Amino acid sequence: MKNIVPKRASKEYEQAFAELKQPLSNAAALADANRCLYCSDAPCIKACPTHIDIPTFIKKIATGNLKGSAKTILQSNWIALTCAKACPVAMLCEGSCVYIARGENPIQIGRLQRYAMDDYFAKGMLPLFTAAEPNGKSIGIIGGGPAGLACADELALLGYDVTIYEAKAKAGGLDTWGIAPYKMKQQDSLLEVALSKSLGVKIRTGECVGETVSIQFLMDQHAAIFIGVGLAAASKLNIPGETLAGVYDALAFIEKVTPRQWRSVDVGKRVAVIGGGNTAIDAATEAKRLGAEEVFMIYRRGKSEMPAYLFEQELAKSDGVQFHFQIMPARIIGKKHVEAVECMRTKPGEPDADGRRHPAPIPGSEFRIPVDMVIKSVGQNVEGTFFSQIPDLMIDDGMVVVNHDTLQTSNPMFFAGGDCINGGKEVVNAAHDGKKAAHGIDQWIRSTRQE
Ligand code: SF4
Repeated sequence: MKNIVPKRASKEYEQAFAELKQPLSNAAALADANRCLYCSDAPCIKACPTHIDIPTFIKKIATGNLKGSAKTILQSNWIALTCAKACPVAMLCEGSCVYIARGENPIQIGRLQRYAMDDYFAKGMLPLFTAAEPNGKSIGIIGGGPAGLACADELALLGYDVTIYEAKAKAGGLDTWGIAPYKMKQQDSLLEVALSKSLGVKIRTGECVGETVSIQFLMDQHAAIFIGVGLAAASKLNIPGETLAGVYDALAFIEKVTPRQWRSVDVGKRVAVIGGGNTAIDAATEAKRLGAEEVFMIYRRGKSEMPAYLFEQELAKSDGVQFHFQIMPARIIGKKHVEAVECMRTKPGEPDADGRRHPAPIPGSEFRIPVDMVIKSVGQNVEGTFFSQIPDLMIDDGMVVVNHDTLQTSNPMFFAGGDCINGGKEVVNAAHDGKKAAHGIDQWIRSTRQE
C-alpha cells in the first residue's frame, strides 16, 4: 500500500484502543447493585434476548454472592462476558430499565454482568453446574462462534458428547475475530472458549466443513448436527477498480486489528469506508485509531437511514471520522494501487415492493475523493458453501430455514441458529439460538429414541 501511516510505539496503540467501558470498582458495583429496584415482571429481563434473570443476579452482587450471580447469568447465557462488553445495552436491557422513565440513569446492567463474569473467570471458572450422566450420544457443531459454543455448552450439560468443527485457528467466531478491540479483548472471547472446553466440549480447529471434513463424515459420526456458521463472505461493490491493491473487506481488516498486533497492520493516510452499518463504523473508527489522518464514511442514503447505531456513529464522529451522506461510489481509481474513489451524489429513487426508496445516482454529479485505502462494508453473506451437500436442506435467500420453536431444519438431523438463520443480529441473539437449539436437539433425540 502507498502512503502508509508510520508505525508508532505499541504503548500508543494500547492507549488508542483502551477499553471504552472500564470495569466497575467494588464500591461502584455495590452502589449500582443497591440502586436496583428488583422489579417484579422486570422489563429488563424481557428486553434481553436470553432473558437473564437480571434482578436476581444483581441482588446476588449486592449481597456479595458473586459466584451465585455468575451462575444465574450463565444459566441463561453462555456467552455472558462477551455480551456484557459488546451488547448494545442501551437498545436492550438498560434501555428498558424503569429508571429511564423516571428521568434517571439506568442500572448499569452490562457493567454489573461484566463484574460478576470477570470474577468468575479470574477465579478459574469454578464448577457451577452438574452435568447429566453421559448418554452415549454424539453431537457435531459446525462453527465455533457464539451460537455454536452456546449450543455445545448446553448439550454438554445435558450429557452429550459434543465436537465443534471450527474453520479458523481459534474458536469464538465473531467474538474472537470481529469485535472492535476498544469494546473487548480477544482474550475475553477465548475465556468463553475455555469454558466450553472445561465442560468437556471438544473443539477441532482448522476444520473447514465441506472441505477438510465432509458432511457425510459428520452424519456418520453424530446423532444430530447444529449449524452455527456466521457471516463471512463479504458482498461486492460490483464497480470498476474493486480489485486494486489497497481495497479491503471490512471484516478482513477488523480481523487483522483484533489480535492487537498493531504494528503488523498497515493503514493508509486517507481512508474511504463504504457502507453504513455497524461493521463499517467499526472499521472507520479502527482506521482512525490506527493513525489514519482522514477517514471518510461514504453512505448512499441519508443520515436518518444509516443502519449503524447512533452511539456508534457518535463514537466515530468524536474520533474525527467524516460522514458523507447521499453519495455512492461509481468506481475506484488507480493504476495498480487505489488513488481515489469517484463518487456520485444520490437522490431517493422509485420505491421498491416494500415501499423503500432506493438511492438513485444523479447524472453529472461525479466527484473524486483522493484516498490511499478503501474499506468495503456493504454487507456479508452466510458462510455456507457446504449447505448444498446437506440432503433436503431448505435455504431461503441464502439463509437456513428452521422451525422457530425448535430450530430444526428441513433435514431433521440438522438444527441451525445465529446469523445463518437471521442474516446477522447481535451476539446475544446467537447465544440464545444456540441454547434453544440444544434443547430442540435433546427433545428430538429423546422423541426418536435413537440407538
Ligand atoms: Fe433493576 Fe432496572 Fe431491571 Fe428494575 S428494570 S430490575 S431497576 S435493572
